Amino acid sequence: MAELFIGGTWTSAREGGRREIRCPADGSLVAEVDEATAVDASAAVEAARSAFDAGEWSGSSSLDRGRLLHRVADLLERDKADVARLESLDTGKRFVESEYDVDDVVGVFRHYGNVAAEDPGRLVDTGRTDVVSRIVHEPVGVCTLITPWNYPLLQTSWKVAPALAAGNSFVLKPSELTPATAIHLMKLLDEAGVPPGVANLVLGSGAEAGAPLVEDPRVDLVSFTGGLPTGKRIMAAASETVKKVSLELGGKNPNIVFADADLETALDFALTAVFLHSGQVCSAGARLLVEESIRDEFVDELVERAQRIRLGGPFDEKAESGPLISAGHREKVEAYVAAGLAEGAELRCGGRRPEDPALADGFYYLPTVLDRCTTGMSVVADESFGPVLTVETFTGEDDAVRTANDSIYGLAGAVWTKDGGRAERVASALRMGTVWINDYHPYVPQAEWGGYKQSGTGRELGRAGLEEYRETKHIWHNVKPAPQRWFKG
Ligand code: NDP
Repeated sequence: MAELFIGGTWTSAREGGRREIRCPADGSLVAEVDEATAVDASAAVEAARSAFDAGEWSGSSSLDRGRLLHRVADLLERDKADVARLESLDTGKRFVESEYDVDDVVGVFRHYGNVAAEDPGRLVDTGRTDVVSRIVHEPVGVCTLITPWNYPLLQTSWKVAPALAAGNSFVLKPSELTPATAIHLMKLLDEAGVPPGVANLVLGSGAEAGAPLVEDPRVDLVSFTGGLPTGKRIMAAASETVKKVSLELGGKNPNIVFADADLETALDFALTAVFLHSGQVCSAGARLLVEESIRDEFVDELVERAQRIRLGGPFDEKAESGPLISAGHREKVEAYVAAGLAEGAELRCGGRRPEDPALADGFYYLPTVLDRCTTGMSVVADESFGPVLTVETFTGEDDAVRTANDSIYGLAGAVWTKDGGRAERVASALRMGTVWINDYHPYVPQAEWGGYKQSGTGRELGRAGLEEYRETKHIWHNVKPAPQRWFKG
């Protein structure tokens, strides 16, 4: 009981709602947690505002903040197995993948622990000897951080670590489906010594608990990761009080394979690009663009291998991929595939739930390949966020770039070729925030992550990920003030 963390105290939802959390792999009850409403959201914002204005954290030295972030990383390493288990129970993802996620989260806290004290500002040469002019960075203030269910703790760390490094207070609202690791993180922040009120946690639905956190005039910044329709709503709501907004809204990412690529490696990565975590990855390579001359051999082999992917629960050591997050999400993926077939796509494999009775209680969906797709189809244009690959073909470099860029999204993409010049030309022509050459999926906390076009605004990770949480102030100090006599009287 009492899973909201407000003002340094664990507290229950004031209006008393509770939510059952069930594992998507088998429907088993994992936990029951508080379900906040606008009253709790308001109390959390008040706690964050008071803590920020009191200045204990916002006015602390960036070196001290960096040290604390390293302490959080140490605690996460200590609790790695427990945290990974919680993540797997909430999301249904394989335990080993959750362990990788915790390693990545540790890396994110260490990165921001290292860079917290970097860039202390600069002196400006005004051309006047009677003036000292300087640029300083300050925290933005109170941040609302809203995160989704696919990488719950990892995406939380991309926001919490830089927000704390810069000296902000925050209210975190994780997805209602996957609250466990956010609860655990709050315990660790508390144990590491984050002052009361700086880190606050509100659980509950987007409509009941999230929307008030976006609208509240005491909030200065909203950072959101999730779907495009919600992102648009959040941007509009935040505009009422001109909050800073950072949005990561996913993508429909092209994986471009030229005939001269190392085809064995390209095939192997084409599978992980789309089917990792059952496609519930914002940067999933869900659009395969393959050069016309190799389409048949490449797609035939890919379909063979997709059919052999073993589905199973988080602790099934033979499983290679898990379930979708919820019944509702699986229905969305099913509707998306049905629309693709109605538009003329050819079903090469999957396209249905598995028949294995051992999987009947989970939200599983077979790895699916839809061939003979074209850019105009909704199945290509829209994000499925499921294990669904659409196949398009191209002839030549210009056609590949034009087809890949023909999307409202621009999060990520990849190009496979042994021709180094072509690889560079295509990489610079793609309108995307991340481009991999002869690789797919890796990211590091030192490098910026974010989208062009409707994939979002702002950047996470890297230096820019810290700048999102900083204001820039110019301080002009006249050290020899004297009357100016502009007005003579
Ligand atoms: P949402 O965008 O609805 O949810 C993401 C987060 O936003 C959740 O914490 C959610 O709360 C919250 N939220 C929802 N509505 C509001 C609101 N009005 N104000 C404030 N917060 C709100 O994603 P879904 O879970 O519904 O998934 C829908 C689609 O989004 C997926 O199918 C996929 O295409 C995409 N998606 C993209 C992700 C990415 O990494 N870019 C991650 C996840 C999904 P709650 O869910 O608790 O109600």
